[in-house]
Amino acid sequence: MKFFIAFCFAFCVLAANCQTIRVGLYTEKSLESIELSGFSGQYLLISDSIVKEISPKDILDVKIIEGNQMSLFLNQKFYSSPSKISLIQLQCINTLLIQSSSSNLKKISFEGDFEISLVEKRLNIINSLDIEDYIKSVVVSESGINLDLEYYKVQAVISRTYAMKYWQRHENQSFNMCNTTHCQVYGLRNNTNLLIDSAVKSTRSLVMKYKDDSYYPTFFHANCGGQTSETDYIWNEKMACFKSFQDTFCRKTKQANWEKEIPLEKWSKFLTEKYNFPINDESSIVLMSNFIQEKRMAFFIHPRYGIPLRDLRDEFDLKSTFFNCQVKDNIVYLKGKGNGHGVGLCQEGAIIMASKGYDFKQILAYYYTDMYLDKIVKLRLNR
Ligand SMILES: [Zn+2]
Ligand SMILES: [Zn+2]
Repeated sequence: MKFFIAFCFAFCVLAANCQTIRVGLYTEKSLESIELSGFSGQYLLISDSIVKEISPKDILDVKIIEGNQMSLFLNQKFYSSPSKISLIQLQCINTLLIQSSSSNLKKISFEGDFEISLVEKRLNIINSLDIEDYIKSVVVSESGINLDLEYYKVQAVISRTYAMKYWQRHENQSFNMCNTTHCQVYGLRNNTNLLIDSAVKSTRSLVMKYKDDSYYPTFFHANCGGQTSETDYIWNEKMACFKSFQDTFCRKTKQANWEKEIPLEKWSKFLTEKYNFPINDESSIVLMSNFIQEKRMAFFIHPRYGIPLRDLRDEFDLKSTFFNCQVKDNIVYLKGKGNGHGVGLCQEGAIIMASKGYDFKQILAYYYTDMYLDKIVKLRLNR
């Protein structure tokens, strides 16, 4: 048995060195205590130099005591005060549940290996797993259910490309990605989705690159409203790979249109205070009332007023910057198209393309200009 454990341990560590991604969990929370339970399969618990095999029924509690000491409890009995705890899976398909009592977090299932340490008075949890298993979880979290296989392949390539592009983003915290929206949401994979598993498997190692061989910026949004956006309309940077174009696939979908009413007083206050817009001038109301975007624009009314549409979107929580405006009876009526920033891939357009029989390569090429697909060579060679 000892030999078997040593063999599995060596195998997993070896495999981990080759193809794993390190994900920081709950990085935005200040975790002071967590419970680990629901072990599926066997894990080795390593607390400093003490090694113990954990059974599926065991429950581990990790708590910070007096702000500077980590204590480990096994089945509610004190076990040790280690500086670092590792949980190593003995088969590479194991999962466990993590729950935090201090932050009222739901129990979430994670797979792979874990390291827990005390960093700046909070529990630092790093989850290591095969990058392809990580991608499966991200696709579940970022996509809806009941979609076509080709659409899941699109999401798998996007998520893998994103992970590779920002591989060193959290380097100073000793992991690659966090599991919040700052990087990619991950860890909600309660049920296995066979279609997503198949999409990840059949796109294994595939990533998108730009013609200069850099990883392609994988921006996407819910619906572009029929026209994608240039990057400098939304952010300050102009990125040559994103050219605005007419998207004919998303115009009749759920999020294609929106409407919003805003009191004129609130709207006017923002425009006068922030941009010195001459709101009391009768002609200003006429100008606002006739604001129509047949194509996406960067500024409200005219660039000379210096009112970026993205500022209006932020201030009034608008679904997009792609809207027309009318003023009547002291109410500003906005009629808009799309949902999201409009840069890169339009998810609803891509979903329609997949349902019409386009394959994932055609869909990616439609939204990401001058993109080509490449393999993560290093990971493939190390396999
Ligand atoms: Zn992050
Ligand atoms: Zn679209």
